[in-house]
Amino acid sequence: MNSQFIPALVLHGGAGARGPASERPRRRQGMMFALRCGMEILRGGGRALDAVSASIRALEDDEYFNAGYGSVLTADGRVEMDAALMLAEAEGEADLIADAAACAPMRAGAVAVITRVKNPILLARAVMEDTPHLLMAGAGAERIARRAGIPLCRPEELISPRAKARWRIVVENRLAEERSDSSGGTVGAVAIDTSGIIATGTSTGGMTGKMPGRIGDTAIVGAGIYASGRGAASATGHGEAIIRMMLCRQAVMALGGADPNRVAADVIADLGRTTGSEAGIILVDHRGRVGFAHNAGAMEVASFDPERGQRHHWPAAIK
Ligand code: ASP
Repeated sequence: MNSQFIPALVLHGGAGARGPASERPRRRQGMMFALRCGMEILRGGGRALDAVSASIRALEDDEYFNAGYGSVLTADGRVEMDAALMLAEAEGEADLIADAAACAPMRAGAVAVITRVKNPILLARAVMEDTPHLLMAGAGAERIARRAGIPLCRPEELISPRAKARWRIVVENRLAEERSDSSGGTVGAVAIDTSGIIATGTSTGGMTGKMPGRIGDTAIVGAGIYASGRGAASATGHGEAIIRMMLCRQAVMALGGADPNRVAADVIADLGRTTGSEAGIILVDHRGRVGFAHNAGAMEVASFDPERGQRHHWPAAIK
């Protein structure tokens, strides 16, 4: 490809329990399909934002992931979703000094506690593109969906039989009231395009048995997503811990020369030590290098870059 920037795309399918072996082939298929949706856009010279949106949308439509249709349920058996997108312009090497990245143009949109939209990532994008605001929730967010032509559905249409069965197990074990359990299956994507625009997005139903109204890291810029001139990140795992650590901002600010895999491992180890919680992160830097790490039971990852092509990974948990 004849351009200044090398395109790359990396997706995660959530950090958490590895899940039943019988579901793995189907989940892998879903991840690779979502990767191709974004990759075709990047390979055709398209925008990182479109690639990230397309990949996340595909995973939101897949009931094997905890986002859009098939999201996990709250303590009272409803779907409440969070999603966010962010983009920035890659810095040239010379600009990667001190806090220069903080000056790079950045845009973001996020939504929280969404109950009537099948693709919350599209709504987060509409917040970014059509409003002067960054984070919207409730009826106001749904009004933006209507204005943007994003269809509204009945809340029950988001509940899959699979999510309902998992919710029953949690409720029967009375996990719901004692602690919100990280369920895995949250989805995220980070990409850089040939023009040097870096984008990230995350979408989730949150944690099984969460209290109604709870907002996790996914909707919080700096926590569940972050992009700057240095690169971009998307996180998954225990939202309350990720917010306390401002995990994605911490990771992106450590990029800018450093190996993204090293940075990912360092911030996850730090989160584990500091909070005792589990999380995962994916990263892309301004040179199109990708990195990922987690300290959970498992985290499924798919990646694309022109040199290595399409790949699927189950990275080992770091200590
Ligand atoms: N981080 C998400 C949340 O706390 C859940 C997850 O990634 O599994 O809402």
